Amino acid sequence: MKAVIAGFMANMRRRTHNIRTRNTRTHNIIRTCNIRTHNIMKESSYKAADLHTHTNFAYCSENVTPEGNIKRAAEKGLSMIAFTEHAGQLYVSSKDYWAGKFIDDTGIMAMNRETPLNRMPDYRRTVEKFRSPQVLVGVEAEVDCNGRLTLFEEDMDCWDIVVGAVHFLPAVYEPGSEAGFMWANEMLLRAGADVLAHPFRYFQKKKKEVPKHLFRPLAEMLAQYGAAAELNFHKNENDPLFYEECLKKGVRISFGSDAHNLDEVGAFEKYYSFMEMIIPFEQPEQAGKIYEKILYRGRRVAQAQ
Ligand SMILES: [Zn+2]
Ligand SMILES: [Zn+2]
Repeated sequence: MKAVIAGFMANMRRRTHNIRTRNTRTHNIIRTCNIRTHNIMKESSYKAADLHTHTNFAYCSENVTPEGNIKRAAEKGLSMIAFTEHAGQLYVSSKDYWAGKFIDDTGIMAMNRETPLNRMPDYRRTVEKFRSPQVLVGVEAEVDCNGRLTLFEEDMDCWDIVVGAVHFLPAVYEPGSEAGFMWANEMLLRAGADVLAHPFRYFQKKKKEVPKHLFRPLAEMLAQYGAAAELNFHKNENDPLFYEECLKKGVRISFGSDAHNLDEVGAFEKYYSFMEMIIPFEQPEQAGKIYEKILYRGRRVAQAQ
């Protein structure tokens, strides 16, 4: 692992020049596409999937519920929706979750197992009732200081989709550490995460500049593990350069609204405009076909292909 991180660091300087050149190119693409005010996807028959939504089980939920999200997904004409509740929030108190305590003190989760703080069984029972080919049941999980998913053993293999997220780093890393960020992402992927949630939002939350030199290494890592990169506009800015790198490496993009409010479920206008920035489409039919190839559609669909 250390060798992998060392490799990333060693390549940083060499990559800076390339990224500067590419920045100029992307800027031009953005300008061109901003001029195109129409949204091709509105004319296409493609139906997107929202593979990251929260429910009333989230401490940070506003009005989302399994029923409400499904209803909103139907209104939005989505083909699929996934419930991906915060795994950590289902095991520990709100206070311990937001302090990121369970990442370093793995005993907290175990201590709560037989208490009302362990809401995982209730979550599983609740969402299971809605499970179908169009409704995926999953979690948004972190990795703890040992590089293990924040899930009990019995809750590891029961999901249609696991969205891996870096919200906290183990205390061994400085807050905002690039090496720690790459370590956490690799651990998530190694543990079987299907999608990396809001890649690079970690740095935005820390009020640090997003390290663009990590775009290529993270895209390479995603390709290596066959996982998807999430496009996520929930309190998050997405850099076209990163998604260009992903597409070049054959990494699929997953639309995740990260809905905490019903208004966010399947609200993909920005997502389509963003995609049109990186792939200028000529025909709506062409856009639909390309989206079938490059957008992630959930583990169940991926296995069927
Ligand atoms: Zn998240
Ligand atoms: Zn989320």
